[in-house]
Amino acid sequence: MLIQWEEIVSPSIRRATPDTTSNENRLLRNLLIDSSPDCRTQLLQAQIKHLDAILYTHEHADHCHGIDDLKWMRDKSPIPAYGSHITITNLVRRFGYIFSSNHSFPLHQTILEPHEIIPFKSFYPLDSNKVLTPIIIPIALDHGFNTQVLGFRIGDFAYTTDFINISKQAYTALKGIRWWVVGCLRREQHPTHAHLELVISWVEQLGGVHMTYLTHMNGTMDYNELCTELPVHIRPAHDFLQFEAEF
Ligand SMILES: [Zn+2]
Repeated sequence: MLIQWEEIVSPSIRRATPDTTSNENRLLRNLLIDSSPDCRTQLLQAQIKHLDAILYTHEHADHCHGIDDLKWMRDKSPIPAYGSHITITNLVRRFGYIFSSNHSFPLHQTILEPHEIIPFKSFYPLDSNKVLTPIIIPIALDHGFNTQVLGFRIGDFAYTTDFINISKQAYTALKGIRWWVVGCLRREQHPTHAHLELVISWVEQLGGVHMTYLTHMNGTMDYNELCTELPVHIRPAHDFLQFEAEF
């Protein structure tokens, strides 16, 4: 998922990036959640030329194996990458060259700059303009078998995937959202991913969610069938779906 917002910046810190908007005092910020294996294709199609930061939910292959293609998204400096202690440790161990410039090949540059974040401790993904940069709340969620993932709340929007339970603390952190992108693997129960009935019960429990979009669905989740049977405030997400949330 890509999150964009616009910042008004002073000319001295403005970067000459190709997707900067025509008004010279405005800068479009791009924040990516996870580097999925198909992120290269999707970023190209969306004409994204740079990333300002990346948030990692967890280190499973389907959430990070597009990491090598982020080299094309690097601007003048490494892209800040945020994740839990376990996620960052795993990514640095598995993809050391991405996080290091100590490489024998002189042209090699550090692509990502690792930042460990603490569950439920809010942070700013960029340290430029804190008035205009969204504050992010990392929400710890249970991925089953003692595995934890992070969801992210930004204003009235939350992105949460790959989890099976919502703790009281996580529920409190989600309360009040109006836009929710939530992992929903299939109709049948699963030991590590929420299924359709469970997600619907969470939406009812939270109340007040204007739109819920299902993500991380497997091939049994048919778009048309789901649209017919689900209430209008719950819809399957799809590539290039766009909506506007407030922070
Ligand atoms: Zn996972």
